[in-house]
Amino acid sequence: MEEQTQFRLSKQRKVILEELRKVTSHPTADEVYDMVRKIMPRISLGTVYRNLEFLCAQGLARKVGPAGAQKRFDGNAMPHAHIRCKTCHRVEDVPVHLEAPLLAQEDCMGFDIDECNIEFEGTCPACASKTC
Ligand SMILES: [Zn+2]
Ligand SMILES: [Zn+2]
Repeated sequence: MEEQTQFRLSKQRKVILEELRKVTSHPTADEVYDMVRKIMPRISLGTVYRNLEFLCAQGLARKVGPAGAQKRFDGNAMPHAHIRCKTCHRVEDVPVHLEAPLLAQEDCMGFDIDECNIEFEGTCPACASKTC
């Protein structure tokens, strides 16, 4: 996958992508910033944010979650389904392969569909075991 990238990744982008790919926790930009800062102490949150957006625009990373929520980033650029806890908002990868539902041409509302995000919501075991 990396080999076919036709642009040169800056050192910062490379480190950000490497750190993002190390985890499956779907970190927020702030969390990525904390990870990257251990390697490049002088980097700013704005730089991390811009590079994350760039990596997503290039298809090397993905944004997870509904619009409006705090953005989480995923170093796994392959289409896969997610499961989200409604209480603590953690996001996990669903370990089974889910086929995106096929939309008939007349149901596409004239849109050119190129992506389908499947996300399940519920309560994670940690939150379920907490008594309120
Ligand atoms: Zn939870
Ligand atoms: Zn994921």
